[in-house]
Amino acid sequence: MTLATPRPDPAARTWHPLALDALLAAWLASAGNLPLWLAVSRVPETQGPGGWVAVAGLVLLLAGALLVSVGLLMWGPWRRALGLVLIAMAGVASYFMLAYGIVVDPGMLANVFHTDALEVHGLLGWPLFAALLAGVLLPGALWWRARARPVPWRRLLWQRGAFVLVSMALVAALLPLAFQDLASLMRNHKSLRYMVNPYNSVYALALQGANEGAHAAQPLQAVGLDAHAPAATDPAHAPLVVVVVGETVRAANFGLGGYARDTTPRLRALAARGELTYFDRVTACGTSTQVSVPCMFSRLGRAGLNGPREENLLDVLQHAGLAVYWLDNQAGCKGVCERVPHRFASEFALADACPAGECPDAALAPLLPEVLSSLDAQRRANGSVVVLHQMGNHGPDYHLRSLPARKAFLPECETNALSRCDRERIVNAYDNAVRETDHLLGELIAQLAATPRPVALLYVSDHGESLGENGLYLHGMPWSIAPDEQKQVPMLLWLSPAMRTRLQLRGDCLDTLAHRPWSHDNLFHTVAGLAQVSASAVEPGKDMLRECRAGG
Ligand SMILES: [Zn+2]
Repeated sequence: MTLATPRPDPAARTWHPLALDALLAAWLASAGNLPLWLAVSRVPETQGPGGWVAVAGLVLLLAGALLVSVGLLMWGPWRRALGLVLIAMAGVASYFMLAYGIVVDPGMLANVFHTDALEVHGLLGWPLFAALLAGVLLPGALWWRARARPVPWRRLLWQRGAFVLVSMALVAALLPLAFQDLASLMRNHKSLRYMVNPYNSVYALALQGANEGAHAAQPLQAVGLDAHAPAATDPAHAPLVVVVVGETVRAANFGLGGYARDTTPRLRALAARGELTYFDRVTACGTSTQVSVPCMFSRLGRAGLNGPREENLLDVLQHAGLAVYWLDNQAGCKGVCERVPHRFASEFALADACPAGECPDAALAPLLPEVLSSLDAQRRANGSVVVLHQMGNHGPDYHLRSLPARKAFLPECETNALSRCDRERIVNAYDNAVRETDHLLGELIAQLAATPRPVALLYVSDHGESLGENGLYLHGMPWSIAPDEQKQVPMLLWLSPAMRTRLQLRGDCLDTLAHRPWSHDNLFHTVAGLAQVSASAVEPGKDMLRECRAGG
């Protein structure tokens, strides 16, 4: 019997720690920043003969910066784990940048922190798994298996010092050469500055973590403790305000706003009869649910985005003695409904309407009577405000947001990897979901019109959506560079005849308000006005209806 010569175990091969650091920096600067380089190679500044030189200069500059960073950071026992985290950050961010055109900023990180299982599920699929395999698992496994050779710490110290100094010299030499290109690129294409992996994720994590920590540490300030409503009446005739918070519906695809397709047939019929007012120039507070929803209900609006932690509209209404309720059909109310009665639609016994615990928005309308009858009777006599938070057009699975029987536009994009669908299919699926909101609002208004109570229904979407314009999908872009599709939202108001009388509205005055520029900043004060709640926190000047009221 002969013994086979033992083959060298590849895992036993060792590398100088600084060689591994250099390999890590090289991976991050090249493949780890694929979306950045693709974007840079497409901008007008890098076209023409000198273009590739500029791109190469930028690649080298980033490599130099990464060499300095890893040279300074990759110490001791956390070296391997830290490298793995950087590879994962770059790989995951790259996939979402390539698939949806998004960028990584603190706001996007906030969305990630506050997502739920359902939203994560909506992003899963083979393209994501394949990207994670190629961009995270394979390089991550190679990095993890690569063994660093033990080097006496004194020697490693000066070697590492020299490594960092040489890397800094590389950056210092390249920066003046690339500065002009870099400065004009970052000025003309602001989104590029949010695409530099992994610095974008590290920066966003640090800033968002610090912001959220500081916000949570603040004591909650009461708002509207002096709030009051007109004297209680017979509950059967007390006012009711239904606020429907839409999701991801952009003004551009809303039929009532002049979109070429009829995505709002039921609402159009109501508008034609003069029963509702559509506001066609409404700006959202943010480009994500996480920013917009709390902002919509805050008295400070957009100006208070980084302001004090304080109570919101629902608290003020409750202080005034009204019955308040939040019915959610999405990932929660982002803290807005914490101190008022609230429930998820799926918590009602709706086995038929909500298979697998997930309700279509259409399930909300039949729940409204149950919600109304559950409200505190004493408070009901002062008035009620019910918020319905829709699933709306939550993407990227737009095709799941409408019921098969109501789909008017076919074929639809049926994958969440939107960039793999042609635009027509994406828009079809999106528009079908808008029609679902039209259906819900039509059902709600039909139901509310049958009561003699003074009733108002106010619908507004939380933010818009990109549907592939300039390669951009979904929402959540930093406000300063977000396109109008993500910022302009539909808003409409339906009032029952009894409510018009109660508010003493002058004739068809509402029509004069329809084309004015409004924003989420007006919601707090307008809903308070509809509920006839006064408080020092309520600014009548921001109530959209004020000038249409007798004496307004
Ligand atoms: Zn949203």
